[in-house]
Amino acid sequence: MPKTRHVLRTVEDLAEAGLVGPQLAEALRPVAAMYAVALTPALAEAERETTADERGDPIGDERHSPVPGIVHRYDDRVLLKLTHVCPVYCRFCFRREMVGPGEDQVLSPAALDAALAYIAAHSRIWEVILTGGDPFMLSPRRLAEITERLTAMAHVKVLRWHTRMPVADPKRITDSLVRAIKADKATYVAVHVNHPRELSDAARTACARLIDAGFPLLSQSVLLKGVNDDVATLEALMRALVETRIQPYYLHHLDLASGTSHFRVPIAEGQRLMRELRARSSGLCQPHYVLDIPGGYAKALLNLGDVEQTSNSHRLRDAKGQWHPYPNPEKPDDVTQHGVPSRA
Ligand SMILES: *Cc1c(COP(=O)(O)O)cnc(C)c1O
Ligand code: SF4
Repeated sequence: MPKTRHVLRTVEDLAEAGLVGPQLAEALRPVAAMYAVALTPALAEAERETTADERGDPIGDERHSPVPGIVHRYDDRVLLKLTHVCPVYCRFCFRREMVGPGEDQVLSPAALDAALAYIAAHSRIWEVILTGGDPFMLSPRRLAEITERLTAMAHVKVLRWHTRMPVADPKRITDSLVRAIKADKATYVAVHVNHPRELSDAARTACARLIDAGFPLLSQSVLLKGVNDDVATLEALMRALVETRIQPYYLHHLDLASGTSHFRVPIAEGQRLMRELRARSSGLCQPHYVLDIPGGYAKALLNLGDVEQTSNSHRLRDAKGQWHPYPNPEKPDDVTQHGVPSRA
C-alpha cells in the first residue's frame, strides 16, 4: 500500500491511499458530503504499523483449540466461537486477524456438532461462553437451537453470551432474540462498552430488555488511549453501566493485536486510573483490570494489591494510597491492646 504523506480530506484521498476499496468509497460519498473528513498521515499509518511485540493471535487462542470453534484454556469453562462477523469492527479488536466478513462466517453445521460434542464429552465444563465475532449476529432461530442443545447438557450450569450488539445495533435485541436465549440455566450477558456515550437511550433500552427477561448483565471494556484513559471518563462509564443495571466486570488492558500500539496505555497508568476510580466511586463501579498473558496462559489481574506482608504481619492500603498496619490474628502475642503490631 502506498505511504500516506498528506492529510486525507476526501473519499478519493482515502481510496488513493488504499484505505477504502471502490465499494466502500461509493458508500462513503454521501457521508463525506455531509461531514468533514480528515485523516492525518500519522493516523492513517498507525493502523498498519505493527510493533515487534504485536501478533496475529495475541491471546494464544489457537494453542487451546481442540476443535474448531472451541477454546478450552480453563478446566471449568470453554469459549464457543459461533461466528466471525460483528455488527461493527473495532480498530483495537484482539481477534482482528480473525473477524470480518468472508468465508466461514458462521460455524458450519458439522463444525457446530463437533464443538457441541466436545462440550458434551467433557463433564468438567461448567460454563460455556458464547462468543465470536458477535454471537448475536445469528438469527434467533439458530440461537434458540444452540441454547436448547446446551441446556440439554446436565453438567453445563452456566451460559454466558459476549456481545457488542446492545450498543452497536440495539434494535437487534428483539423480543425473539431474548426468547431464543432464554434457558433453563443461569444465563449471563456480557456487553462490550468502552465509552459512556455508547450507552445511548436505545442501548439502555436494549440492555433493560435483557435484564427484565432475567439475564444479569456484565460489562467488558478495553482501556484505550485517547478514548477512556482518564479517570473522569472511566468513572462516567462505570456509573452509567451501574445505573443501567450492568455490573462492571472487566477492564481489559489492550492485547498485543497487530496495529494497535497507538491505543495502548502503560500498565502503571491503568493501575493509577483504577486506584483513582476506587477512591472516587462505589464498589459497584469497580471492574477487574485484567490482561491476557500473551501465549494463552491466563488472564492476569493487574489491580495494585492492597495488602502486603510485613516482617511479622500485614499492612493494608486505603483508597488514597496510605498504608496501615494490620495485626496478625494468628499471632495474638504480637498485637498490643490497640490492635497495632508491637514489633512493626
Ligand atoms: C477470558 C477467557 C475466558 C473467560 O474468563 P473469565 O475470567 O471467566 O471471564 C475463558 N476462556 C478463555 C480462553 C478466555 O480467554
Ligand atoms: S465486537 Fe468484539 S470481536 Fe467484534 S470487532 Fe469488536 S472487539 Fe472484535
